[in-house]
Amino acid sequence: MEISFAGKHALVTGAGKGIGRATVLALARCGAEVTAVTRTQADLNSLVLECSSVRPVCVDLSDWEATEAALKDVGPVDLLVNNAACALLQPFLEVTPEQFDIASSLLMANGIVFLQIVARGMKARGGGGSIVNVSSQASQCALRDHSVYCATKGALDMLTKTMALELGPYQIRVNSVNPTVVMTDLGRIGWSDPGKAKAMTSRIPLGKFAEVEDVVNSILFLLSDKSAMTNGVTLPVDGGFLAC
Ligand code: NAP
Repeated sequence: MEISFAGKHALVTGAGKGIGRATVLALARCGAEVTAVTRTQADLNSLVLECSSVRPVCVDLSDWEATEAALKDVGPVDLLVNNAACALLQPFLEVTPEQFDIASSLLMANGIVFLQIVARGMKARGGGGSIVNVSSQASQCALRDHSVYCATKGALDMLTKTMALELGPYQIRVNSVNPTVVMTDLGRIGWSDPGKAKAMTSRIPLGKFAEVEDVVNSILFLLSDKSAMTNGVTLPVDGGFLAC
């Protein structure tokens, strides 16, 4: 399937590593002008070396004032990949309010204001847009030690649906991808232990974790006109895990 994003401006958060980084590079290959947002300057430096057209923005998205200031110069956005997240894993009885604050401010509180700013711009320009939230299989299935992660991703899925409902009339589509484990830095935090990894893959009908490219391809599809009538879905990229 040929997908072109020529003439479109895409913004990807959490763009320094893993799924976000690969999404930036794929979008640029498909002709988009891409703004890459992440908090480690060295990652942005290497990204620009790899793809000189990428516009780097270095900001910690959990620092709201800095984020607002950084967004001022970004310009109109047609395509948004809301991808940045962290995994703070611990047993439920050991979760601290601070850990919940860190995860929920990135995924929810600041995340919502960030999405609002981009969606307001899309609405004001009247040309529609497409937003993909990067969620997880953990939004719909309980995983041990993942209570904060599961709770925030579950909230993100409902945010995806309510945004789709309210922004649809402006031709702004909002969907999510919900991957199973991908062995990025974040994935390794929870699943490097061979015993845990085996227990998880044995619950995935395809018998394996997802690759970064599996997730990127679904993101590109949801951003593109190939999914023009798809709005408000939470698309598993999980080898069938959530079907069982
Ligand atoms: P990753 O390789 O760890 O990359 C995450 C990126 O987000 C990094 O560049 C990180 O920057 C950036 N980031 C984190 N917090 C940030 C902040 N406060 N401000 C700005 N940038 C920030 O993770 P990934 O596996 O690609 O995860 C991407 C998305 O996929 C996440 O939403 C995650 O929940 C979701 N997901 C991942 C898996 C998996 O198994 N990997 C499965 C399902 C869903 P630093 O490195 O500088 O912190």
